[in-house]
Amino acid sequence: MTDTPAQQAAAGPAPTGQQPPRNVPQQRPRQNAPQRNQQQQWTDLSVLIPLYNEDESLKELHQQLRSTLNRMNIRYELLFIDDGSTDRSFQVLRDLKRMDKHVKIVRFRRNYGKSAALAVGFEKAQGNVVITMDADLQDDPAEIPALRRKLDEGYDLVSGWKKVRHDPITKTWPSRFFNFVTRLMTGIKIHDFNCGLKAYRRDVVKTVKVYGELHRYIPVLAHWEGFRIGELPVQHRARRYGKTKFGLGRFWKGFLDLLTALFTTRYLRRPLHLFGGIGLLTVIAGIVVDTVLVVQWFLGLTSLGNRPLFFAGLVLIVIGVQFISIGLLGEMISKTRALSEEYAIRDFIK
Ligand code: UDP
Ligand code: MG
Repeated sequence: MTDTPAQQAAAGPAPTGQQPPRNVPQQRPRQNAPQRNQQQQWTDLSVLIPLYNEDESLKELHQQLRSTLNRMNIRYELLFIDDGSTDRSFQVLRDLKRMDKHVKIVRFRRNYGKSAALAVGFEKAQGNVVITMDADLQDDPAEIPALRRKLDEGYDLVSGWKKVRHDPITKTWPSRFFNFVTRLMTGIKIHDFNCGLKAYRRDVVKTVKVYGELHRYIPVLAHWEGFRIGELPVQHRARRYGKTKFGLGRFWKGFLDLLTALFTTRYLRRPLHLFGGIGLLTVIAGIVVDTVLVVQWFLGLTSLGNRPLFFAGLVLIVIGVQFISIGLLGEMISKTRALSEEYAIRDFIK
């Protein structure tokens, strides 16, 4: 018996980019993987909206969502995650809930960040399809039906692509750069990794772990778990109320997060391949340099004391040994973790 929606889409187009590792052993499923026999009532669609101090936008956003979703004639929920807002966002949400039973609210005690809000939303969402969108009216709810249809073309995650973007240049240029580098490093052929508007099959949100500020790279995490990633150009609008929550720090944080996303996907289970690789190269370079100099010294062609290159060679050897040691430490750490619970299992056929 195959029982995941992703299975039904197996005949779809080839996945984008390079393939995650094969031969993933059959292990027991993660604790929070979706299971059929749970009491949970699934619904057709969950719209997940992380928000932090967006009280001015919420009412209008809710109206737009309702007008789109009611026309779709499906069962749905609107899951607002209030990420510790200090303005009137929560009161506005309470008022909305009073008049609309589709509204559900999770309220954090403090501001944990967009990734945390998404992670909790992913856990609580009950939809077979989950849509995420920003609360600031920059994303257009009218795109939801098209995103959902795009999933049916055989994708597990469809990312919005803000083809025409209405943001200041300080945001659009760095973002272009990051998207370019991410595309290059991961082989995932989409243009806009960090678009707030995305559609997911339930399997994806129950599998991918978003934490820190990795919400920028969810397609990378999902691709690595073996999900098929697609994209769809979407309307984008300028921010009308409030202000952006991500300042200039987004540049260097974005870069560090890319490193984290790459490292924790590719090398989580084999850190020595990264650190050991760098370490071996460095040690070999050091040994070659120093051997040449020692041979010259032996033949009386040079003296070692006044050759800075000799010391550079020694430094390379020391650094290389350190890299290898870090890699070995990483291996010891990853061995002590219960790795069997971290494989994304698509089906379990009995
Ligand atoms: N957000 C959040 N927690 C935070 C920061 C932002 O839930 O700590 C929400 C925010 O309210 C909005 C979405 O994440 O709904 C995107 O934030 P923003 O519009 O500031 O990002 P930008 O569009 O500037 O990239
Ligand atoms: Mg925004």
